[in-house]
Order: sequence, then structure tokens, then C-alpha cells
Amino acid sequence: MQFVPWMNIADWKCNACGYCCKLYSVVLKFPEWLRIVKTFGVEKTVAGLNRLYIKRVSDGSCVFLCNFGGIYYCGLQGMKPIACKLWPFKVLTEPKYGQARQAAFDYNGVKLFIYADSMCNGLKYGIPTWEFNHQTLKEFVELAIGARQTQSKTTSNLAITSPFHVRTFSFI
Ligand code: SF4
Ligand code: SF4
Repeated sequence: MQFVPWMNIADWKCNACGYCCKLYSVVLKFPEWLRIVKTFGVEKTVAGLNRLYIKRVSDGSCVFLCNFGGIYYCGLQGMKPIACKLWPFKVLTEPKYGQARQAAFDYNGVKLFIYADSMCNGLKYGIPTWEFNHQTLKEFVELAIGARQTQSKTTSNLAITSPFHVRTFSFI
């Protein structure tokens, strides 16, 4: 994996390919683990040495990864862990992955550093668009600092039509 500073990214849109949900183990904060255990049972989680994770099934996918007509979506929806909400971006207070000038991001006068995991299929490289800079990244920052919980720009919002209804599922 490689981390790319946000100024090298033109835009990001999740295309619900499901790749990230097959690639990584999701680390849970304790309250997130508790909510999942109460709703779905402890068997949907795994305890590591000093961390709690969502269980992965035999092909490596997250146990909550669902597939509807070839489109992947998150079965947790309203309970989606913060690690999943933030992926593929890392919002940091230090330029941990280098290229500090390209990664620097001003949020209301606070200097942060934002990088994206190059494994994501939704990244487009180039000069950042206004929407990506001022709306998408702002939402990622607000999720990271706990200023918001709901996702709008930071998820796929794909509409899925069935004979019974049209539902919009968020992904990551
Ligand atoms: S976040 Fe990226 S890798 Fe994950 S489903 Fe969306 S486009 Fe695919
Ligand atoms: S977004 Fe949902 S399906 Fe994907 S890894 Fe996270 S919890 Fe699992």
C-alpha cells in the first residue's frame, strides 16, 4: 500500500467495488464492538492481542459485506465503524507519510495532513476539483474529528432498485 497526499488527487468517488472490504481487517473501537455484539452477536467479531476486529469470512471478506446484483454494500449501514467511514483517507496531525506541503489541509485554521490509500479504486489523480477539496475532504475531516457521524460525500450512495422499492445504500 502507498499513501498519496490529497493535492495529487483530482477526485474520489466510491464505486462500491467492495475491494477494500475484502482487503483489510476492520479494527473496532470498544463502543462499536459493543453495538455490533449486542445486535449481531459476538461471533461476528474477533479479538486480537489488544484489538477488536470484525470477523472475515473464508475468502477474506468482511462478514458484513453484501452483494446485490453485482453491487457491493455494507450490511452494517447505520453502525458502520469509523475506520470504514474514513477509508481510503487518513486525516493526521503530522505528515506521517511525507510530502508535507502536498498533504497539508487547513480546517478552520487547524493544520492537518491528508493522505489516501492508493489501493482504492475510486481515486482519480490530478488537480483537486473544488468539490473534492471543499466538500468531500471537509466531510472526511469532520468524521475524523467526531464533528459529524452521517455520510454524504464520503460514501457511494448508490441507488438499488428492486421490484419492491428503491433504496440508497451507503458503502464506505
Ligand atoms: S472505497 Fe474504494 S476500494 Fe472501497 S468500495 Fe469504494 S471504490 Fe472500492
Ligand atoms: S464498510 Fe461495512 S462491509 Fe465494508 S469492511 Fe466496513 S463494516 Fe465491513
